[in-house]
Amino acid sequence: MGYPERQDSLPDFSTPLVHEDELPSHGDTVSTGSLPDVERVTTLIEAAHRRYRDLDEGKVADYIPSLGAADPALFGISVCGVAGLTTSVGDAQHRFSIQSVSKVFVFALVCHELGHANVSRLVGVNNTGLPFNSVMAVELADGDPRNPLVNAGALTTTGLVPGTTSAAKWKFIQDGLSRFAGHPLELDIDVYESEAATNQRNMAIARLLQSYGRMDFDPIKITDVYTKQCSLLVSAEDLAVMAATLGNGGVNPITRETVIDPSVCRDTLAVMATSGLYEFSGDWLFEVGMPAKSGVSGGIITVAPGKGGLGTFSPRLDPAGNSVRGQRAARFLSGALGLDIFASKPFEAEAAVH
Ligand code: GLN
Repeated sequence: MGYPERQDSLPDFSTPLVHEDELPSHGDTVSTGSLPDVERVTTLIEAAHRRYRDLDEGKVADYIPSLGAADPALFGISVCGVAGLTTSVGDAQHRFSIQSVSKVFVFALVCHELGHANVSRLVGVNNTGLPFNSVMAVELADGDPRNPLVNAGALTTTGLVPGTTSAAKWKFIQDGLSRFAGHPLELDIDVYESEAATNQRNMAIARLLQSYGRMDFDPIKITDVYTKQCSLLVSAEDLAVMAATLGNGGVNPITRETVIDPSVCRDTLAVMATSGLYEFSGDWLFEVGMPAKSGVSGGIITVAPGKGGLGTFSPRLDPAGNSVRGQRAARFLSGALGLDIFASKPFEAEAAVH
């Protein structure tokens, strides 16, 4: 049995996310207000790819049997700027199932429908400190799903999707995620069937939520819709555009379509910052300094608000289920491209004009 191995256990923070010698210098980490030009971005994503393509730490997820067949050598990086500039390296067009990265976009669409206060009350915005598929997290919180980026909160969120039938909810999700990507997203039938045959734990979580009065719709049907949303096919290039839409006030930088309101974008990024990398979200924020979301097939979206989005894909995962190469590449690029939202430079009085 592959990942996950530490269900319902406390996180282990003993392994650092990056090693000291990988850190870019401080001078490079100050946000510039916009992405560097496309040549510079391309040079730096190529450097990130070269730097980490031979890193073979971590394990490919195989608790969903069809994910275990992924080629661990695959590695793609893509950047999309808010003006629509895109540049990619490696296997950035390789398609894979979106998995937990879908949770962000379903949450954004539901937040757009229900509003800030309702999603905060019904789903929550706090980290659980426990693995993404923890049953104990739900029990410890008396049925409160805590946040939309763990399975309990994602199942709750999918239950809140508009529509009185599974088919209507599924159409809302598939159409909505396709608008984020800028083209129709297809279902990977093999991944869907493989997870549907093995998702007893998610069905149990949905039933548990129902027992706490947190699930109005049939929990088994909701688990099925959730399994489908996780099985939508995307590439690292798609993820970059989807991330850039969240970094651009909800307007897709390629199609120019308004997918969600700017305030919903902001709310979604805030939850990604607290919980996007599960129990390692604090380590991620400390090292990378940007809102992000990972999935067990190896995708990560990272958002630079007002600047753009980064999509990475590489299947080997750390113990929490986050792509190892994707995290390292994002750490490198956060510094090199000046994207860290916490970085600032002291004000220089002599240089100021007023
Ligand atoms: N579909 C997967 C699950 O529910 C998604 C998990 C993930 O990407 N972390 O287990």
